[in-house]
Amino acid sequence: MSKTVRVLSVVSECVPLLKTGGLADVAGALPRALSIKGVDMRVLMPAYRKQRWRLDGMKVLFHEGDLFGGPATVYGGVVGGIEFLLLDAAHLYDREGGPYSGPWGEWEDNPQRFAALSWVAARIAREGLSDGWRPQILHCHDWQAGFAPAYLKWGGPTDVKSVITIHNIAFQGWAKAELLQELRLPSHEFHVQSLEYYGGLSSLKAALVTADRITTVSPNYAIELMRPEYGMGLQGILAERADVVSGILNGVDTQVWSPEAEEHAYSFDNLRGKIENRATLCAAFDLEVPGPLAIVVSRMTDQKGIDLLPEVLPEFIEAGGGVAILGSGDPELENAMRALEVRYPDRVGVRVGYDEGLSHLMFSGGDAVLVPSRFEPCGLTQMYGLRYGTLPVVAQVGGLADSVITVNPASMIAGAATGFTFSPTTADAFAGALRRLVQLWHEPSHWAQVQRNAMRHPVGWEASADEYATLYAELVQ
Ligand code: ADP
Repeated sequence: MSKTVRVLSVVSECVPLLKTGGLADVAGALPRALSIKGVDMRVLMPAYRKQRWRLDGMKVLFHEGDLFGGPATVYGGVVGGIEFLLLDAAHLYDREGGPYSGPWGEWEDNPQRFAALSWVAARIAREGLSDGWRPQILHCHDWQAGFAPAYLKWGGPTDVKSVITIHNIAFQGWAKAELLQELRLPSHEFHVQSLEYYGGLSSLKAALVTADRITTVSPNYAIELMRPEYGMGLQGILAERADVVSGILNGVDTQVWSPEAEEHAYSFDNLRGKIENRATLCAAFDLEVPGPLAIVVSRMTDQKGIDLLPEVLPEFIEAGGGVAILGSGDPELENAMRALEVRYPDRVGVRVGYDEGLSHLMFSGGDAVLVPSRFEPCGLTQMYGLRYGTLPVVAQVGGLADSVITVNPASMIAGAATGFTFSPTTADAFAGALRRLVQLWHEPSHWAQVQRNAMRHPVGWEASADEYATLYAELVQ
């Protein structure tokens, strides 16, 4: 049995307490996946208004008299099998609205709100909690926890190590330079090699220059990030620190995402249930589709390439295909999807909104899942697609390229093909991939082979948990 490593995970959202995106899934999966690898992980997260009722019955473990304008208390307790540390600071988090924005847009004091989370993380790293627990590693996620490695490093010598994980580099935690003092940052670090970022501050950059290790959520994204088209301004600093940058692919919860747990259960050696789920799915969207039934479950944003659908779908529909679309976001994209539905009522079905139950039906009943992202740090829906034998058709970027093996003669002979990749992310290339999908559809034995390959492809946390455990072990050695 290896020695236990104590890790404080610092994050702004975590399943099962709060989720707005994939970050929360990863933060919630890690403590469980890592506990069997000898990692003792606690998760520090703000107690937003909707979480405050949980503080009753939790233990007071830390106190800060003045945390950017008011007192703060850290409460500890177990929720859903995870050891949470909830940071209660009413002046920062007890308000109506989401974790990052209220009715009028982003909270103006987001720099202070998340610097506060980071500040407390660094103090816990130095002083420990009142129950005697003190982490050996701070594992910080995204810009919200970005100042934590910086506070730790600039607060004096310490034996605690830090890791920053980039889940999406598009969000960089920018703040005005005038906040330097208020955010308790040393003015001598305000230069281009350190804190300064386009005349202001970036909490993510602060982490990239101070953390002992930098990880991101797929090996391919780790390489892409060093190029200007993906690094979004931070490519230089990442390239400079390339020796401590690595990519660890996310997994998915294979108990929650399991074809054997769906209404009409199925497995790779008996796909009958999938056919029944397909019929339920068609009925739910009022579709009649003679060829492959594709699905899209996605935020509707430019990143996700949803704008390419109106260009590529007519040909796919002409070839017998259909598509069920679930998502919300940019109103223009939502309207474009609705227009497709009006134009092809039997072949295109659209639900605007967020509906996890419906997404399960879609993955279990669909034939293919479309993920035409322009960039994709890891991506989860292609992994659900693999698990459900719903062949992923993905842009060859980020984690999509790391998780899907495209159909070609070599990959078919090797028994490795699991879906379709295309590059670059353009309508032409996407349409080409859909053509190849339709072609495979007309070769049922080959289609079935790719489905089986996909369903056998491991998408759980096992391998990634090993990699994180190894990273921690190296750091505390
Ligand atoms: P991102 O975090 O960039 O949105 P990911 O693919 O990493 O993309 O994760 C998105 C997660 O949110 C997946 O679990 C996906 O199934 C889910 N999701 C996205 N949109 C919807 C929706 N409208 N309804 C249900 N689930 C959704």
